[in-house]
Amino acid sequence: MVFMATLEILKYPNPILKKKTRPVQKIDPSIHQLIQDMAETMYAAPGVGLAAPQVGCPLRLAVVDVTPADQPKNLLVLINPEVVATEGECSWEEGCLSIPEYTEEVKRKKRIIVRYQDLQGEEREIVGDDNLLSIALQHEIDHLEGILFIDRISRLKRGLFRRRVEKESKEGKKS
Ligand SMILES: [Zn+2]
Repeated sequence: MVFMATLEILKYPNPILKKKTRPVQKIDPSIHQLIQDMAETMYAAPGVGLAAPQVGCPLRLAVVDVTPADQPKNLLVLINPEVVATEGECSWEEGCLSIPEYTEEVKRKKRIIVRYQDLQGEEREIVGDDNLLSIALQHEIDHLEGILFIDRISRLKRGLFRRRVEKESKEGKKS
């Protein structure tokens, strides 16, 4: 029997979110367990993607599922994902489980090819083409580099966002 647990999702400005991750060396039972827990956490949130640093693990690992809620789940496990190629540009309104209650337009690549290892360690490729999958792949791989979507918005918008976070944390301390 496999026990699953939902993990705590780290929130901005936790410094772990800014760290680059290291590759998964061996896909052992502890990695399988982590993936199960990450998937459970993502579905419970709910979210369309979750990267290992968001649950405090500095590993090159992410889970994605962009299937609409009324359709059967289709979990994509990305172990050691790397961007192979990108093309075009688009912009997309993004949010992040580590940055609650904030969304903003982010400039992204329209198409992306990602190479990764699956649960068996087999090398695979996936293509995101002008869709939510393309954006989710870019967003999650950014997490593995220590990049958040707020790092990709304009300096002005980022300044306003930071001020809001500071204000909220002050108000939080008062109450
Ligand atoms: Zn995120």
